Amino acid sequence: MTGRGIMDKRTSKTDFLSIVVPVYNEQDGIMVFYQALTDALQEAAVKPEIIFVNDGSTDGSWNILKGLHEREPQVKLIDLSRNFGHQNALTAGIESARGDAVVLMDMDLEDDPGTILEFLSKWKEGYEIVYAIRDRRQVSMILKTFYRLFHWVNSMVSDLQMEAAGTFCLMDRRVVEQFKKFPERDRYIPGLRVWVGFKQTGVKSDRGKRYDGRSRVGVIRLIKLAADSIFSFSTLPLRFAILFGLFFSFLSFCLVAVIIWIKLFTGLAVPGWASILSAVMLIGGIQLICMGFQGEYLIRVFNEVKNRPNYIVRESVGFDVKD
Ligand code: UDP
Ligand code: MG
Repeated sequence: MTGRGIMDKRTSKTDFLSIVVPVYNEQDGIMVFYQALTDALQEAAVKPEIIFVNDGSTDGSWNILKGLHEREPQVKLIDLSRNFGHQNALTAGIESARGDAVVLMDMDLEDDPGTILEFLSKWKEGYEIVYAIRDRRQVSMILKTFYRLFHWVNSMVSDLQMEAAGTFCLMDRRVVEQFKKFPERDRYIPGLRVWVGFKQTGVKSDRGKRYDGRSRVGVIRLIKLAADSIFSFSTLPLRFAILFGLFFSFLSFCLVAVIIWIKLFTGLAVPGWASILSAVMLIGGIQLICMGFQGEYLIRVFNEVKNRPNYIVRESVGFDVKD
């Protein structure tokens, strides 16, 4: 269908927009976020449903969310049985969302609610996926360097054309239906979003500052997410072993030739066990790295074979109301 065709269909009724927001120990930010979101949505001609997914919060977030739902019927809640992580919480929200389009966003005010209006206008133009391109993240230099390095490595090794984009995006119902079919664990949603195809575009969105400055994801989880992206969307690391192997075989062949030459024509013994030792250690290190790469794939195969669900819902609130 052409962009115009989609547009004609969409303007014929008020669009139903789902906004999926994962929440993990955010009690001080919920109301500020909700206010900012509803202010932004007032300018949009849509009927919203706002789905908060409580990802095993241990603070007062769930009670605040329940209070909010009682006052605002457009607020729907999913309570997961424990902390399943950002990507799984988003997945839970996507699977319950019923909108013509679904927005994924964090609730820490780093994702600017005003950008949703730009998402909507691109959607009306006929794009089925609109994602935010973040230029300036207001985080520490170390984190900024980590993000840059990750996006650079990711774009180099990935089998897909990956841009430096996060989870903040809008997906058309058709895309959501495809997304729901992905059974995979160790999810990296920005990668899956590239993989599904459809008509995609990015809009620039400045990242705000986190309202309390304390990331809930943490460095270890961030490294795991980076590994999920690289090892789930690239087979290049598996091939490193062959590349390294060929390179060092060639090198050692040259070395043997040189040693024989020295022996025959100079009669000198080759001096230096240190150089031999360092070469052995280098090769040993490379072998371990390559085994580690294989281990990363094995972990993912193992997780798939276990076939456990990505999340478990304790309670859903507000979904039975007829929209
Ligand atoms: N979050 C979650 N489960 C977690 C960690 C985070 O649902 O285990 C939520 C969190 O409440 C926030 C969003 O995911 O709405 C992004 O988290 P955060 O801002 O800490 O991540 P960062 O922006 O630092 O990557
Ligand atoms: Mg954040």
